[in-house]
Amino acid sequence: MDKKEKPVFVTGDRPTGKLHIGHLVGSLKTRVEMQDSGKYQSYIFIADMQALTDNAKNPEKIRESIMEVALDYLSVGVDPQKSTIFIQSQVPQLNELTVIFLNLVTLSRLQRNPTVKNEIKEKGFKDSIPVGFLVYPISQTADTTAFNATLLPVGEDQNPMTEQGREIVRTFNAIYGDTLVESTNVLPNKKDSMRLPGTDGKAKMSKSMNNCIYLSDTPEEIKTKVMGMFTDPNHIKVEMPGETENNTVFVYLRALATDEDIRQFAPEFETLKSLENQYRKGGVGDVKIKKLLLSIIEKILTPIREKRHYYEEHIDEVIKILEDGCEKARSVAQETLSKVRKAMGIEYFKDNALKKYYLETKKNK
Ligand code: ATP
Ligand code: MG
Repeated sequence: MDKKEKPVFVTGDRPTGKLHIGHLVGSLKTRVEMQDSGKYQSYIFIADMQALTDNAKNPEKIRESIMEVALDYLSVGVDPQKSTIFIQSQVPQLNELTVIFLNLVTLSRLQRNPTVKNEIKEKGFKDSIPVGFLVYPISQTADTTAFNATLLPVGEDQNPMTEQGREIVRTFNAIYGDTLVESTNVLPNKKDSMRLPGTDGKAKMSKSMNNCIYLSDTPEEIKTKVMGMFTDPNHIKVEMPGETENNTVFVYLRALATDEDIRQFAPEFETLKSLENQYRKGGVGDVKIKKLLLSIIEKILTPIREKRHYYEEHIDEVIKILEDGCEKARSVAQETLSKVRKAMGIEYFKDNALKKYYLETKKNK
């Protein structure tokens, strides 16, 4: 199949810090698998403009995090030979698309978005919501439609964004004719990976909540975080029965471990299911399950750390990858923007359009 015909996927991450294992299981893993399958064209971007919507007064944090996120991408296996990696602010076409889409959405529709509502609460904006923040689901639609994406490998919190995106595409196409394509989310196949909780047990591991295990953490940092995690508060003694469903250590095990890992690090159980059954009956200590989790996290993060180390030593290579990615992204986004402007009839100086509109109107009067 010609490369052009392959379906496109797009995903991005806000450079508000380093990426964590929630990103890994929620989105990075899926996108690397999709990239390596060779069946898709992939665009992966660092969403600095979006990060500024709630960090306008802290631009240094965003600037500093750009290279961190780029290093995280490369270290988990995003391959610049197979994927286009770019920085959002370097593709100004996305901003123009955003402004065009702003007119197609009502304020009340934006205010109903459950993810945005929740984030407004968490960030403590109260009555001082930055306008750019409120409209970020609209700019996300520009990010995906600009590249004709049909698939978005993301975590569960992104469902309302994609829904909003499809509405914008339908409205645009209904007014101006078939121009943009709709996209759907590709969620992780494990329930526990869709929204990995924080090490503090809170609903979501999130850079802004300071409850993360970062991909670039040292083994010592990870040990402290894992050994300090909550399990089942009623599981006080080893022999007591324990709960596994909402036990954060087990949530992580279900999201991260394979049965092969269990056989390697806890051979007496063979599968995660049988370990869970035994914990529920009693007789499995919390230190044991935390040590198991630690071994599995280390197994996953060791090769990632090594790759990161290579790129940290070859920073110019990383910068060149980003620069080339931005150039490619600009040219693809420009093609979409030109189509959009043409559909809207605002390419006034192309093919003498403005004069034609004038003469046409005059004739009809
Ligand atoms: P911030 O706190 O700045 O919003 P974040 O940690 O929520 O940062 P984002 O950059 O907003 O990270 O999210 C990037 C992608 O990672 C999205 O697709 C999101 O769904 C996914 N993701 C983020 N956190 C998790 C998580 N805890 N579990 C599963 N997926 C996640
Ligand atoms: Mg977020």
